Amino acid sequence: MLSTAKRIRLANKVKFATRDAVDFVVIGSGSAGGILAKELSTAGFDVVVLEQGPYRKAADFTHDELSVLFRSELLGGGPEVHGQTFRHDETDTATMPGRSPVEYARGVGGSSVHFTANFWRFRAVDFKERSLLGPIAGTNFADWPITYDELEPYYTKVDWEIGISGAPGPFDAPRSKPFPMPPMPIKSSGVLMERGAKKLGLHAQPEPHAILSQAHNGRPACINCGYCMFFGCEVGAKSSTLAAMIPLAEASGHCEIRPDSVVIRIDTDKKGRADQVIYLDADGREQAQAAKAVVLSANGAESARLLLMSESAQHPDGLANSSGFVGRNLMHNAHSVANGIFEQPLNDFKGVQVSRIIHDFYETDVRRGFYGGGGIDARPLWSATPIFHVMQGMPPDVPRWGAEFKNAVAHNFTRQMSIVGSTTSLALDSNNITLDPHSKDAWGRPAIRETYRDHPDDLSVAKFLQDRAMELFDAAGAEKSWRRPIETTNGGAHLLGTCRMGDDPKTSVVDRTHRSHDVPNLYICDGSSFVTSGRGQPTMTIMALAFRAADQIKAAAAAGNI
Ligand SMILES: Cc1cc2nc3c(=O)[nH]c(=O)nc-3n(C[C@H](O)[C@H](O)[C@H](O)COP(=O)(O)OP(=O)(O)OC[C@H]3O[C@@H](n4cnc5c(N)ncnc54)[C@H](O)[C@@H]3O)c2cc1C
Ligand code: SF4
Repeated sequence: MLSTAKRIRLANKVKFATRDAVDFVVIGSGSAGGILAKELSTAGFDVVVLEQGPYRKAADFTHDELSVLFRSELLGGGPEVHGQTFRHDETDTATMPGRSPVEYARGVGGSSVHFTANFWRFRAVDFKERSLLGPIAGTNFADWPITYDELEPYYTKVDWEIGISGAPGPFDAPRSKPFPMPPMPIKSSGVLMERGAKKLGLHAQPEPHAILSQAHNGRPACINCGYCMFFGCEVGAKSSTLAAMIPLAEASGHCEIRPDSVVIRIDTDKKGRADQVIYLDADGREQAQAAKAVVLSANGAESARLLLMSESAQHPDGLANSSGFVGRNLMHNAHSVANGIFEQPLNDFKGVQVSRIIHDFYETDVRRGFYGGGGIDARPLWSATPIFHVMQGMPPDVPRWGAEFKNAVAHNFTRQMSIVGSTTSLALDSNNITLDPHSKDAWGRPAIRETYRDHPDDLSVAKFLQDRAMELFDAAGAEKSWRRPIETTNGGAHLLGTCRMGDDPKTSVVDRTHRSHDVPNLYICDGSSFVTSGRGQPTMTIMALAFRAADQIKAAAAAGNI
């Protein structure tokens, strides 16, 4: 299916004409899209990547806390731009919160650019828990159509090609090759977690990271700048697809990255095949890129929105949505936070966020009385940067002004750390992405309307992990510790499940190769493909799925079957 699309080479960059059908249009260049672009273009396919955000380079990333954390610089603005609305229940009227509920970075590399880079593989149990535990009433709890063993070679590909640092832990899934580089150095919060864990008989292990602890594949090691969570990496040590994949895609001579291209629709021809992708260019003009096949990797919220926006007479409920499953089963992973202050300075603001985790509570234990499990990590969280610390991290009993406030900031900033629990989320019909009938975004598209209320078991896991966190603080000798209340989620950064993978076209959107059940030349691969949520750090699995999907797509193309 190699295309004859006309290409123009400009200073080592290739450009394709919109009217010539390229082999693949990839929509979105984030964790999944960046990998698919690289894999398909280096295999010789002509690829146009339509990315709605700008093309920033490492040198464009700053440590401007106000701009990045409070003015949503990398998110491309807040509710005034995205118009997103939120409600907990389908009977509520959705309203626009002060911060966009669906959180992701707009730009080449997507959220892999600004994420915290905690990188957990799933375990075998994650793929077949429904068979092991049985059904859970009122949920769409299901097995994946693939197994850990099928995905393992692709996890290993992520380790080596994307660049992952780490060391095996006592409960890890089997791996076919060691980590390519050692873990990041232990931090004060990690030492204290180890101390607490030892007393409690738990196992603190080094955190795997999508961050280079050593130079790897021509990229430099982390310089421990500390502006990591929410920030882009100024040296390219964070293993975003921007740093690790996009340069290879472009160097193939087969891939054009077209930033500032906001896709508004995928069109299909009379046979029901995707034939062009409609987008608004940087000047807001409507353009149509012709394509032989389309790969949708716009994330677990935006892929669903785009499919719903691509409804037509042939596809009245949205493209690829004969099952009605597009947008449903949104899973965020619930979280718990406990904070502690120690007598001596920890200076935990240095370096990456996390250096030690505890996975003793990963698996569901029916004796707890609820489904689910998760992981616990130690990190500075809001005490990594000063404004964030003051706005989010202060203990509840400290006044918000005056001498006492100033003294608390001066004392706590260097002495405070958090223990964060990340949990499973159950798949529910009522947690979903739909098009808001009233709100539009800055490009005139119907805005995302999120409906979300955690299943009670998700909150029970969060509470359970928070109880363990408080025990860890006591065991580690904290001067003071307190809990952040566990409440139902108001949005999130893990966007999973809205175009789930499955063998049955009635209950899933894509098959086990990521091909949509309804449109033979439309592939969907990103966080939306998830069937279950894992234990809280999904992106390693998103990337492994993307490498695997690329192999499946290449094989189908080679067999003349796209
Ligand atoms: C602050 C933060 C910290 C995080 N930390 C972690 C962590 O430690 N560990 C972990 O596992 N995960 C973490 N995550 C989550 C992680 O970033 C995401 O799971 C992952 O990046 C999702 O990958 P994706 O390919 O599904 O989508 P994305 O990476 O979001 O990529 C989607 C891309 O598509 C583009 N796009 C969307 N719609 C359109 C359109 N209509 N037209 C053109 N382009 C479009 C977007 O601009 C974006 O670039 C974090 C997220 C945030 C926000
Ligand atoms: S802490 Fe390291 S990986 Fe993170 S942004 Fe700074 S240099 Fe990059």
